[in-house]
Amino acid sequence: MSDKQIQAQSLMNKEQLQSPSRRAFFRRFAGPAEVELPVSEFPRPPWAMGNNEFLALCNRCNRCIDVCPRRVLRQSDESSSFLQGLPTLSLEYGSCDFCGLCVEACPTGALSRESGEKRQALALVSDHCQLTYNQSCDFCIDACEEGAIKLSASNRIEIDPNGCTGCGECSLDCYNKAISLVKRQV
Ligand code: SF4
Ligand code: SF4
Ligand code: SF4
Repeated sequence: MSDKQIQAQSLMNKEQLQSPSRRAFFRRFAGPAEVELPVSEFPRPPWAMGNNEFLALCNRCNRCIDVCPRRVLRQSDESSSFLQGLPTLSLEYGSCDFCGLCVEACPTGALSRESGEKRQALALVSDHCQLTYNQSCDFCIDACEEGAIKLSASNRIEIDPNGCTGCGECSLDCYNKAISLVKRQV
């Protein structure tokens, strides 16, 4: 499907989503025939709606980006004109404390405490971890307030995807840059 066709579909979706009753109607009848829109490779801001609804609702106003006190939201620079400019969660140099200012600033419902998904990112550990080389280190374990990181029986870092909120603190504290935050499949 071309970008033009996708944009036309999105506009239709957006119209349907503009009033609560139409939104409910859209949700109820959006079944298998629903058009699959492009999916970003980056995590969305916390509490983002599902992909199709987010694309239909977000108007690229940047309010979420502007209000984030930790500066961890930015505009996507993906090549697809359809995805470009949409807000993404970028945790390379900062972490999110789920203060909720972004969701409160969103005027369209693209971010929603009621219907969105709070956890948009997931921590993954790579072979750059010190423990891979049998060196001792527990910085990430100490950094994780959720207790989602543990040592395995074979003395390797294990991250529990159910416990991880995607806050990014472990990655910031890893001096080997062995932990990255990736898009969670939501
Ligand atoms: S919850 Fe707070 S820190 Fe996290 S992205 Fe939103 S505004 Fe930024
Ligand atoms: S505040 Fe809402 S509508 Fe505006 S850019 Fe952020 S997610 Fe999109
Ligand atoms: S991203 Fe946050 S919750 Fe997830 S493992 Fe790292 S510190 Fe723990």
